[in-house]
Amino acid sequence: MKLKGLFFNFLKILLVLGIIVIIIGCSGNDNKPSLPPNLPPPSQPPDSGGENLTVSINPSATEIGSEETVYLTLLIQGGVPTNIRWTQSPSNPLGQFQQVGNNMWTWKAPKVYNRTNFTLTVTVTFPTTSREASTTITVSPPQPNPPVIQITYPWEDGKVNVVGDNIILTVKGYVYSRSNGYVNKVEAFIDNEKVAETTPNYDYFELDITRFGNRQGNKELIIRATTTDNAIGEYSLNIIYDNNLLYSLAVEFIRRYSCIYHEDEGKYRIVRFGNLNNGPYNRPVYVGITSDILPYESYVIEACKFWTKYTGIQFVILKPGDPSSPTGIGIYINAKFDQDPGYAAAEAKKGAQNDIHEITSGVIILYAGWLRENEKYKFRIIAHEIGHVLLTEYHPNDKSLMDITLDSTDMLHTYQQLACKIMYSKNPADNI
Ligand SMILES: [Zn+2]
Repeated sequence: MKLKGLFFNFLKILLVLGIIVIIIGCSGNDNKPSLPPNLPPPSQPPDSGGENLTVSINPSATEIGSEETVYLTLLIQGGVPTNIRWTQSPSNPLGQFQQVGNNMWTWKAPKVYNRTNFTLTVTVTFPTTSREASTTITVSPPQPNPPVIQITYPWEDGKVNVVGDNIILTVKGYVYSRSNGYVNKVEAFIDNEKVAETTPNYDYFELDITRFGNRQGNKELIIRATTTDNAIGEYSLNIIYDNNLLYSLAVEFIRRYSCIYHEDEGKYRIVRFGNLNNGPYNRPVYVGITSDILPYESYVIEACKFWTKYTGIQFVILKPGDPSSPTGIGIYINAKFDQDPGYAAAEAKKGAQNDIHEITSGVIILYAGWLRENEKYKFRIIAHEIGHVLLTEYHPNDKSLMDITLDSTDMLHTYQQLACKIMYSKNPADNI
């Protein structure tokens, strides 16, 4: 029994101990060893959110034209990407990304009609994270083609492109747009100064230039045409600003076409319209029109305005029934529309009273052929006939209004304008 008792006691002790051991063991499992505070963190994969990961874009340009290409070099540091994706904003119109090298892409800009900023964004994906980078590219619309300028007057012959003070150089020409816009401005520049501006009438334009710079000499006259979509075309014309040269050209014209040469004296004497009391410049030139001409008065007015513009001569038009001029009619315009001589649409006859150098009256007759002409020629013929009374009875071969070859223009050349002013600053029969 004692042994039994001992055994049981032992068991009891074992049980108690075992429970204690079990208890101790359980509590022992909770005591995980903590890491020493100064140990480095365990090494991790470089892409797992490491702070050294950088992505940036280096574009070859930040401003390109419509449908041009920019190179985009991608700089990735600190990781190996698993995917690279490009996007643009705005997404419309859409450009085109293309990989062209290990770290290089291109972006072909779309066609734009306005200057547009595109933000190009790259999203670089790594095994456990991603990065974004952006760059902004400005795309300009295509440059519109410049308009073409064609100059029909003057030309560079050393005569009609000679200019001086108190004359008008009228530049005439055409402009043709080659862009989506239309030409809405034509300007003239001399010595970088704007000297004239106009709006073309469809393709046609005229520029009246009266200032030719501060100093005389050879000048570059720049004609510049601008379209509504800002395309600019230029034309350069050489002109000669030389008062002495212009004067000598004017005198040459007067001697040749507006004088009588008196061989006995060896002198050129001026033949011109009117005396000091009747006509330029002390009094206006009176132009009488008949009732047949009255329906066409506008052409007469236009022709008179032309002469006033280029020579300063004033006109008064007298209609049927108007009180007659204080000096007697200077120029009389009559119609013979029932006659068709064929050789001429009009003619001018001059009358001299006492002195062959002084024209006291002029008669202009318009024939059936004049009625057949278009508006431009109706005006031009009357202006031409007035020129026979006021400037010359001849037809100089100089492509001016007074020329009757096919090369003629409706222009009074600069030296003819000055010739007129010189003639009427002198008396009929004066020597020049
Ligand atoms: Zn003629």
